[in-house]
Amino acid sequence: AHFNRIEEVEKNINAFITLNKEEALKTAEKVDEKIKNGEQIGLLAGLPIGVKDNIVTKDLRTTCGSKMLENFIPPYDATVVTRIKEADGIIMGKTNMDEFAMGSSTETSYFGPTKNPIDTERVPGGSSGGSAAAVKSGEVALALGTDTGGSIRQPASYCDVVGIKPSYGIVSRYGAVSMANTLDQVGVFGRDVRDAVFMLSAITGYDKKDSTSFNNPEGTIIFGSFPEEIDYKDYLKGMKIGLPREFTYEGMDPRINEEITKSIKMFESLGAEIEEISLPHIEYGLAAYYIISTSEISSNLARFDGVKYGYRAKEYNTLDELYINSRTEAFGEEVKRRIMLGTYSLSRGYADDHYKKALKVRTLIKNDFDKAFSKYDIILSPTCPVLPFKLGEKVNDPLAMYMGDLFTVPVNLAGLCSMSIPCGYVEGLPVGLQIIGNRLKEANIIKAGLGFE
Ligand code: GLN
Repeated sequence: AHFNRIEEVEKNINAFITLNKEEALKTAEKVDEKIKNGEQIGLLAGLPIGVKDNIVTKDLRTTCGSKMLENFIPPYDATVVTRIKEADGIIMGKTNMDEFAMGSSTETSYFGPTKNPIDTERVPGGSSGGSAAAVKSGEVALALGTDTGGSIRQPASYCDVVGIKPSYGIVSRYGAVSMANTLDQVGVFGRDVRDAVFMLSAITGYDKKDSTSFNNPEGTIIFGSFPEEIDYKDYLKGMKIGLPREFTYEGMDPRINEEITKSIKMFESLGAEIEEISLPHIEYGLAAYYIISTSEISSNLARFDGVKYGYRAKEYNTLDELYINSRTEAFGEEVKRRIMLGTYSLSRGYADDHYKKALKVRTLIKNDFDKAFSKYDIILSPTCPVLPFKLGEKVNDPLAMYMGDLFTVPVNLAGLCSMSIPCGYVEGLPVGLQIIGNRLKEANIIKAGLGFE
C-alpha cells in the first residue's frame, strides 16, 4: 500500500532518491512468516521507514544528495540501519536531502528539489526535506534524518510533522556521513510525538563503534516508559519553562510569534510556570555555527578526492589535477562555498581570529544553557523565524538561507535535545514550536510534547 502511495505522489513530491522495493517486500514477507509461525517480532515490525541518504545502507545506493556519490554502494550498514533491520522495520528507500546536508530547503540536492506536500510550490525545509515530506505525504510512517544545525527540526516544522534531534551522543553515528561531526546527530520524524518517540526508542543506546556514543543508560529511550494511559497534561502542572527573550529578531514573521504565544498560553493554562529568561550569548550562535561547521566540513570532505571512492574526473594529467577536477566537477556550489569558508577559517593567521574564537563563543552559549537548565525543565521557542518559502526564493541568497537557522543551531552547539512539534497555521502554512531540553533530558521534551499534543 505504501509503495502504491509512493507511486501516486512521488512525481509531485520527489522525496526519494532511491527506492528499495524488492528488498522491502522481501522483508515484509519475512515479518508475515514470523507472525504466522508465532515467532517474536521486533519493535518496528512491518513499519515502512524512510532513511535519509547520508546514512549508509549495505548494497543500497547512498548518495548524500551529491553527484560525488551518485553511484556509491556502501559495503556496510550504519548502526541505526542495523537496529531498524533487527527490529523488523522495513526500509522503503533513501530520502532526498541538501547536498551533504548543507542547506535549509533540499534545493541543493543533485537529484532535484523535494516539494512541500502542504503546498508544492514551497520548499519542505532541509536538509532532511525528503524524510519530512515522505512522512507528511504518507509515503512512509517514520523516517530518519540528521541534524547538524536544524536539519530535522526545520523540515519537521515546514512539513507539519514531529521531528526530534536527540542529545549529542545518544544515537550512534557509525555510518552517518560526517558533515560537522561535533554537531551532527541522527534523529527521527513521525506524524505525532508518540510515533517519533517510538522510532527514537528503536535507535538509541550505546554503540562501541562510535567513539562519541554515551555509555550511559540515561541515554537510552525506552518506549514503554511513556505509557498511553497516562494523561501527560498532568505532567505540565508545575513544569518550569523558560522563554528566552533573545529568540526573536527584526525580520521575523510576527504571525509566527502569534501562534507561538497561543501555544505558550496553552502550557500556562495547563499549570506550567513560565518565565522570561536571558541567554545573552545566543546572538552569536549563528556566526559561531557557520565558522565551526564550515571548518569541520572542509576537513571532513577532504576524503572525497576521486581516488578511494566516489566520482572520478575523466580527464587529468597529474594527481593534483585528479583531485581538483573530480572535486570541481562533482561538488555543487553550496558545498564548495563551505569548503572554502572553512579552509579560510582554519588557515594559519586566521584560525585564532575565527575558528578558535568561535569555539570560545560555543562554550559561552553552552554555559548560558547550563545556567538556564539549572532552573528550568524545558525552553520554548519558535522552530523557525519564517514560514515555508517558495522554491527558488532564497537559493541564490545564502545569507538569507542561513538566517533561517537562527533558533535551531544553538541547540547543536550545546549538544542539547530538542523537538519541533506542529503548533498552528498561518494562511494554511504550518508553524512549529521548538521544545528544548538539557543533555540526556529527552524525557522532559517528550512529556512536554505529549502533554501539548
Ligand atoms: N541548515 C543548516 C545548514 O545549512 C543545518 C544543516 C544540518 O543540520 N545538516 O548548515
